[in-house]
Amino acid sequence: MRYAIISDIHSNLEALQSVLQQIELERIDKIFCLGDIVGYGPHPSECLALVQQHCEIIITGNHDFACIESAELYYFNQYAKTAIEWTVRQLSDQELLFLKNLPLDGKRDDIYLVHSNVIEPRSWDYILSIDDAIDNFPSFTEKICFIGHSHHPEIFLQNSAGNHSRYNYKLDPKIKIEHDNRYIINIGSVGQPRDGNPDAAFGILDLEHQVYELKRVRYNIKKTFQDMTAAGLPQFLADRLFMGR
Ligand code: ZN
Repeated sequence: MRYAIISDIHSNLEALQSVLQQIELERIDKIFCLGDIVGYGPHPSECLALVQQHCEIIITGNHDFACIESAELYYFNQYAKTAIEWTVRQLSDQELLFLKNLPLDGKRDDIYLVHSNVIEPRSWDYILSIDDAIDNFPSFTEKICFIGHSHHPEIFLQNSAGNHSRYNYKLDPKIKIEHDNRYIINIGSVGQPRDGNPDAAFGILDLEHQVYELKRVRYNIKKTFQDMTAAGLPQFLADRLFMGR
């Protein structure tokens, strides 16, 4: 079984299409989506349709949630808020209902899926440090927990002795899934990477070979930039795509 895990697409159709093309080449059995399908970018409906068409499991992210729960916008910065208000105007009642019915988490095999954190998914708190990971490991029983949310790829490990560490994916994007270890893996963002690399990010878990790999895919950033400008979305959100910050 080979799973592709995607997250934080943020209405970036160019990035999503490029990732789906790469997934096609990777002989993937199932795709899971960890939320934030919409927000920030110019093509919410198109991205929603593609995710519905391709993904086996889809869970909600804070931007998806904010589309149907306006009180959530209190926690958003001005750029993100403006983009959500624009997004809601683009979506049909049926699309909003679809977002409303998305679950907060998901499970498959020995894998747990959640957008932000395990302890309280609705808090949208981040897992950024080893200390955050240590706090979250006891809250799930599966071997691997996949997350998104920070747009920053990360791998946290817990070994059989209960020791924790952070894996440097920049040295090697592939990691062997060891029998006695447990993992919290942030797969990065399809549509708005923030780790200094502007290429779209997603993850592949190969259960047969027990390997996880972080993938990066080039996409037409200029096209997304132009579509965002044409839609009147905040310039800052369009500019940052080129920097991957
Ligand atoms: Zn996001």
